[in-house]
Amino acid sequence: MTKHNPFKISQKQLDRAAEKLGLDKATQEFLRWPQREIKVTLPVKMDDGSTKVFKGFRVQYNTARGPAKGGLRWHPDETIDTVRALAAWMTWKTAVVDIPLGGGKGGIICNPKEMSAGEQERLARAFIRALSRDLGVTRDMPAPDVYTTPQIMAWMMDEYEQLVDGSHPGVITGKPLALGGSAGRGDATARGGMLVLREAAKMLNVDLNGQTMALQGFGNVGRYTGLLAEEMLGLKVVAVGDEDGGIYNKNGIDMHALAQQCDRTGSVVNLPETEPISNEDLLQLNVTVLIPAALENVITEDNADQIKARIVPELANGPTTPEADKILHDKDICVIPDILANAGGVTVSYFETVQNICNYYWSLEEVHKRLDDKITSAFVAVYDMHLKQKVNMREAAYLVSVARVAEACKLRGWV
Ligand code: NAD
Repeated sequence: MTKHNPFKISQKQLDRAAEKLGLDKATQEFLRWPQREIKVTLPVKMDDGSTKVFKGFRVQYNTARGPAKGGLRWHPDETIDTVRALAAWMTWKTAVVDIPLGGGKGGIICNPKEMSAGEQERLARAFIRALSRDLGVTRDMPAPDVYTTPQIMAWMMDEYEQLVDGSHPGVITGKPLALGGSAGRGDATARGGMLVLREAAKMLNVDLNGQTMALQGFGNVGRYTGLLAEEMLGLKVVAVGDEDGGIYNKNGIDMHALAQQCDRTGSVVNLPETEPISNEDLLQLNVTVLIPAALENVITEDNADQIKARIVPELANGPTTPEADKILHDKDICVIPDILANAGGVTVSYFETVQNICNYYWSLEEVHKRLDDKITSAFVAVYDMHLKQKVNMREAAYLVSVARVAEACKLRGWV
């Protein structure tokens, strides 16, 4: 475990909000912990005939406002504490955008980059076999996260339907369109991030058109963030990093050319007309907007002082440690917290399940409009709280969301 344990960080964030809201001790204690954790051991036949045993987790953090909802991360460094933190953040995220869902998250310790498609499929199906009784549109609905894809979601949905017999597409979101995925799910997290950035810039009186941006991460979230930052806000992306390194061009990087290169090579490095830059230097560039869209704990007390961006929308979950948060706030940098900035993904996942249950599908324009309405209202609720309570945007987002979850727990008579 790194020195920044994400679950301890999530508990600290909750504690601050609970104290400020004056929550009673029992409610605070209840909200500090997952309601339910499931650990599974999965034997999977590998292509060479051997059997490999994988460890997996699913955490159903809080279901007071609705069934658990949250992604599945496949990563070699996955831990139960990372999954707990991500599940807690999902709880606050669904509450901040006011959709009738709780929070959950899952993970498998594995490196999909070293597995064949067949091995990935057998692992996906094994995970669903182990968990099927705990899933469903009234219980818990997984979705993609780091290193999981629409194809993995398709195998999982198929396994679930074979086990429980019948059509249940809403149990998994982030599916391919041909299997009941929603129009607009692919870029939803990025689009939601650009919508909150648009609103934040209005409040700060910053004209983003032609301004510079640095981006860390070029996966599901980062790639669309780069494309939409240009398309929706006229930003010029001058640096992009991924796990292999980073690239820089002070005149702007062609996002379409970069996306095409990534499809071919799997990496951003070595794009023509760019120079190399380290991920550390990328974070410290003199840009208007800095977007972390990779993993947690990248802005810490060690580098926060060097951050020069004006606005930092957290498209990744948990990229800023609490110590760094304070430093950025003191430097008057506007951090738009993850539970608001990356909530577009879960919002369209919710739309996906609604469409699956109704068996009636919306146009792309309709999804975009509904997403804009949801995200803009969430931004306004958080911004109003920030002004009223004179707290930063993260604390404001926690005050809004924790109050909503606590109210649901109280109304149910749980606390
Ligand atoms: P992904 O696996 O598609 O992409 C991850 C990206 O991060 C890749 O470009 C990878 O190269 C890069 N990366 C990994 N390690 C890195 C390192 N050490 N330094 C620099 N870059 C590194 O994952 P994703 O779905 O895009 O998720 C990215 C972040 O967004 C995560 O924090 C995830 O929890 C969060 N998020 C994702 C969604 C979603 O809809 N997929 C929704 C909300 C939040």
